[in-house]
Parts: sequence; structure tokens; C-alpha cells
Amino acid sequence: MKPDAVIVGAGFAGAVSARILAEGGKRVVIFEKRPHIAGNAYDYLDENRVMRHEYGPHIFHTSSAKAAEFLSRFTDWYDYQHRVLGYVEGKLVPIPFNFTSIETVFEKERAQRLESLLLEAYGKDRKVPILELRKHSDPEIRELAEYIFEHVFKYYTMKQWGYTAEEIDPAVTARVPVLCGYDDRYFQDSFQKMPENGFTAMFEKMLDHPLIDVRLNTEAMDHLAVLPEENRVLLDGEEFEGEVIYTGLADHLLNYRYGDLSYRSLEFEVRTEEGRFQPVTTVNYPTPEEEHPFTRITEYKNMQKNPPEEKTTIAVEYPYAYDRRREKGNVPYYPVFTEASKQSYEAYVKVLEPMKNVHLLGRLAEYRYYNMDAITDAAIELAEGLLERS
Ligand code: FAD
Ligand code: UDP
Repeated sequence: MKPDAVIVGAGFAGAVSARILAEGGKRVVIFEKRPHIAGNAYDYLDENRVMRHEYGPHIFHTSSAKAAEFLSRFTDWYDYQHRVLGYVEGKLVPIPFNFTSIETVFEKERAQRLESLLLEAYGKDRKVPILELRKHSDPEIRELAEYIFEHVFKYYTMKQWGYTAEEIDPAVTARVPVLCGYDDRYFQDSFQKMPENGFTAMFEKMLDHPLIDVRLNTEAMDHLAVLPEENRVLLDGEEFEGEVIYTGLADHLLNYRYGDLSYRSLEFEVRTEEGRFQPVTTVNYPTPEEEHPFTRITEYKNMQKNPPEEKTTIAVEYPYAYDRRREKGNVPYYPVFTEASKQSYEAYVKVLEPMKNVHLLGRLAEYRYYNMDAITDAAIELAEGLLERS
């Protein structure tokens, strides 16, 4: 029997929209090319009994009651507040750079003075993007901003993106603002919790519905043809008039007709160590590439509810330019936000615009820096909208 909707990808975008459509009585088929569900949030207990996140550390945090409520139907949670330290001039300081960081790197009097200047300029606990801080009218604040820029953002951003912080979208560095206070949490959202048995278990429940058929190890484009010029979709060679929610790469959907979009990739060097490796889950290395050729090290068990004592698993993160043809760096992780790349993406969006039953959704397909909560909200909105109009 033909499905009512075809969804490409079983990550947050695909799974959340599938569940909502299925609950609205729609038959849904999901094509997922990987051998597992959960997209980049995929996790599992590894040989050390550590809950390892295969595609890098994923921490759930949100201020959206809608996303939290929806996901809470499929998991219990435990409290976890993420903390990150950065390696700055041989010391570990809180990131986002806060008053404790200032006091760690400057002598007492200077630190106090800088803190009062920040409090006066912005107010207590305010979060200020580094690029904004660098433009402040007070030269002393600008001097501090230059220090933070040099020691926290400049090299990390170069390593992470292959571009300078000035070349990429300012929203990227604004994700980790300077904090005018002592709050040392990486996120300030009201809901900061991790799924009790991991993300994959949460996805298993979400996708467990009689109207959802998940086909793993299945490249969608072996089954689906999207033909914008003819305003037609073919499913296994036959006309398909149902909804298509596509959460993969926009260029892949249209056979790269306007060229490859620019993505950043990562490689993880995963190692087993004894006991505990570092004081927090993630330590950033915002140092020049020659000093540390990686961006951060994550010790997964530090965010686990019942971590094993003896062994630990760590992942060292190396950014790469994405290239689908290469052996290393062939997984697309982050859209690269330069003006040129945003324009190429727009060409794909434009040609698809007349196709009212084809929807681009998610971090890859929409070429957006979505967190898990934001893509959950977006998927709920899209799927509910489709149900309403059906
Ligand atoms: P994905 O999870 O990438 O899912 C897309 C799925 O589609 C994949 O499984 C892919 O295999 C499949 N697919 C693609 N093309 C095809 C095809 N042609 N045929 C079949 N299947 C296909 N967010 C947070 O909120 N907190 C965090 O701490 C956090 N940490 C992150 C760390 C890293 C290193 C990265 C890269 C992202 C992080 N995120 C985090 C963001 C989070 O990963 C995304 O919000 C989330 O994965 C988006 O879900 P998605 O469904 O859009 O994409
Ligand atoms: N960033 C930085 N130094 C840091 C942390 C972050 O320069 O110590 C910049 C960098 O450009 C990074 C961006 O801020 O890509 C967003 O950081 P975040 O930790 O949110 O990245 P993600 O977890 O999405 O990889």
C-alpha cells in the first residue's frame, strides 16, 4: 500500500514529524541511509559501559515548553547542566568566558576593574556576543574583548570552520557569548536534562507506531525522484502525490545541479582511558592549530547518570572540510555560513518552491544551525500544518 507521506532521515526532524503525522492517521515511510535511527543524536553503551554519542556530544537544553513536553512523552529525564572549560594560556577557565575566567587570567585588581566596567556597561548576568564586545566605546572593554577574542574565539573558529570569526555569520560566535557574572553553565535554558536511557531509546519509542515504517540502510534517492520542472515526485518509479519531508542535504536531493553546498565535517579520535580524564564533560582548546590540531575533547561519562568507574571513553574532535567523495570528512555536520554558500543554497530552495508537497526540514536540508529543541519545534509545526491542510 502507498504511504501518505515519505520522510527522508530518522533524526529529530524526520522522527518528530513522522510521529505527528502517524498520530494524525497518516501512513508514513521513513528512509534512513544509516544502519540506525536518531540521526546525529545517536548514542549507545560502548565497550566501557559509557553512553557514547557517535556523532559528538549532544546535550539537551531548551526554553521551549512545547519541545520539552512533546519529547517527554517518549522518555524520562535526569538533570544535567553542561559545563565547559577552555585551555587558555595553560589554565582551564570557564567557557562561556565569565567573571571566574577573568579572575583566573588577570591579577586581582585588574580583574575587579574589568568586572565593574562590564557590570556598568551591560548589567549583571548579561550575555554579550564577542563581536559586539569588540566594538564597545570604552577602550578598556575593547582591550578585554581583544584578549578574549584572541584566546577563546580566534583560533577555535579558524579550526572549526576554516574561516575567521569575521568571515562567518556573527550568529555562530554569538552562541557562546561573554557572560557578565559567575554563572558557569554552558547553557542558561530553563529545561536542562538528558534522556534517562539515552537519545536512541527515546527515538525508538517515538518511532514505535503502527503507521510508521522505518527502512534503515536505505538511500532515499534510490526510491525517490523529485522533478521540479515537471512538478512531480516519483516513488519507486510511480507518481507520488503524498507529502515528502526531506531532512538530508538539499544538493543531494537535486543531484548537485547547482554544485556542492559547503559543509564542515568532523572526525572523532575515540580512546579508552583509565578512571577520569578531565574535570568536566568538554574541554575546549582555543589554541592555534600548531599547538592543538583539534577543537575539543569530550569525556562522555561525565554527563552519564550511572557512569562506570574504572574506564572512560574520550573523543578528540578534529574539524575537516566536508567532501562526500573523500574517506575522511565525508559526514556533513555543519552548514558553513558564508554569503557565497547561503546564495548557492537559495538556488536549491527556489527551484523547489513550486513543489507544494516537498518540504525541506532540519539542520542539513534547511542549511540552518538548529539545536535539537528548535528542530523539534519546527518539525511539530510543519507536521501539524500538513495535518490541518489535509
Ligand atoms: P540529523 O540528525 O543529521 O538527521 C538527518 C538524517 O537523515 C540522518 O540520520 C541521515 O543519515 C539521514 N539522511 C540524510 N540524507 C539521506 C538520504 N538521502 N537517504 C536516507 N537518509 C538520509 N544540538 C543540541 O541541542 N545540543 C547539543 O549539544 C548539540 N550538539 C551537537 C554537536 C555536534 C557535533 C553537532 C554536529 C550537532 C549538535 N547539535 C546539538 C545539533 C543536533 O545534532 C541537530 O539539532 C539535530 O541532529 C538535527 O536533526 P536533523 O533531523 O535535522 O538532522
Ligand atoms: N567558539 C569559539 N571558542 C570556544 C567555543 C565556541 O570560538 O571555546 C565559537 C566557534 O566559532 C564555534 C561557535 O562559537 O563554532 C559555536 O560554539 P558551540 O559550542 O555552540 O558549537 P557546537 O557545539 O555547535 O559545535
